[in-house]
Amino acid sequence: MLRRVGPSLRHFLLEKNSRAGRSSCSREAKMSRPVQARRLEGIDKNIWVEFVKLAATYSKVNLGQGFPDFPAPDFLTEAFSRALSGGNHMLHQYTRAFGHPPLVKVLAQFFEKLLGRDLDPMTNVMVTVGAYQALFCCFQALVDEGDEVIIIEPFFDCYEPMVKMAGGTPVFVPLRPNPPKDGKLMSSADWQLDPAELASKFSERTKAIVLNSPNNPLGKVFSREELGLIAELCVKHDVLCISDEVYEWLVYDGKQHIRMASLQGMWDRTVIIGSAGKTFSATGWKVGWVVGPDRLLKHVRTVHQNSVYHCATIAQEAVAQGFQRELMLYGKPESYFVQLPKELQQKRDWLVRSLDGVGMKPIIPEGTYFLVADISQFKSDVPDVPNSDEPYDQRFAKWMVKNKGLAAIPLSAFYSEAHKNNYSNFIRFCFAKEEATLKAANDILQKWKQEKTSS
Ligand code: PMP
Repeated sequence: MLRRVGPSLRHFLLEKNSRAGRSSCSREAKMSRPVQARRLEGIDKNIWVEFVKLAATYSKVNLGQGFPDFPAPDFLTEAFSRALSGGNHMLHQYTRAFGHPPLVKVLAQFFEKLLGRDLDPMTNVMVTVGAYQALFCCFQALVDEGDEVIIIEPFFDCYEPMVKMAGGTPVFVPLRPNPPKDGKLMSSADWQLDPAELASKFSERTKAIVLNSPNNPLGKVFSREELGLIAELCVKHDVLCISDEVYEWLVYDGKQHIRMASLQGMWDRTVIIGSAGKTFSATGWKVGWVVGPDRLLKHVRTVHQNSVYHCATIAQEAVAQGFQRELMLYGKPESYFVQLPKELQQKRDWLVRSLDGVGMKPIIPEGTYFLVADISQFKSDVPDVPNSDEPYDQRFAKWMVKNKGLAAIPLSAFYSEAHKNNYSNFIRFCFAKEEATLKAANDILQKWKQEKTSS
């Protein structure tokens, strides 16, 4: 502000401020303009901050935030211990900024197999601090002021603020539920895009679409036909695809995860985002990556080199060793990528039975370690507050953790502000948990159900 006033007024204001400062040393200096950057407007709230705190304060059983409570595999933690104290002291120093060479090399080998194309580890792969930083780098590198980015609802909540921070405008298109007619439980496959509605969102302003398959929170695994429809529109309108595939190995019932980049015309316009946290059940390590064509990755590298630049060397070394093992065992029963989904599928089925048993109707996920359940039958316990701005499921989840000790995340957290109340009868559970944790959740639900029927 001071820059805009004339010299004598500026002098007067400076004098006044300094006098005020002298007369009250304890009072903080006030700036006459906002201290925060304009791009932060409207994105300061974050549901996880609130729900993680609530879970820490009240929960006896936490099926909220998405992380396993069982240990990461021994081969991975042993690789970390070897990297830490195995005698190569250089692993305690910076490594290559765009990814530790052993890790980018093995990721390139792995993705060559998965995508059926040659990859250059130095230009087609970049390592990040978790998939979160990979997403941030992609949005910053590829989205400009005025660009529109299509986001499929429900979505992993950080996409919206990240698009906005890059100056873009999110354009939402919902997955619409089609309940099965035969009274069967709903599946995440019953949530589908309306092809005409999706097509209507593409325009000359569209720069990119965010695809998350398998999808958090629903667990939907997009079919080849659905991906084909999106790919066709991307090619037709010259649109990029930011493909968040962090749950790529967590797919059930013999379903196959299809990679968008493997579809006709999509490699050149797709960045694939992955996470060692999800892949090896070690979310705290925060190792992620971006795989894609150099024409896109060179810009993603520019953001990385001007923000984070280096990721922890030891964690990258251990993840590289994990991938080397998995490359050797690819498709074999001993492979972690074969074993983990098998174990998780049993946990999923267990939680499905438990929820169905008490009438909290589960939507059976085809992938991820999340499960969304319908809370309609429990509505009477948490009375609605008419005209409240807070979506019902949010109030329900808060009430549940405070009164029953069970933590879950409201589905409305995965919708844009404008659509938050459209699907507010659902909560999301994470089932990547020890048997004892799932049993404890079941006990809470059973007791609750008994109290309901006897009251
Ligand atoms: N994308 C999705 C869809 C996620 O669910 C998550 C984590 N919950 C991430 C990205 C971030 O992954 P990371 O922990 O590797 O940063």
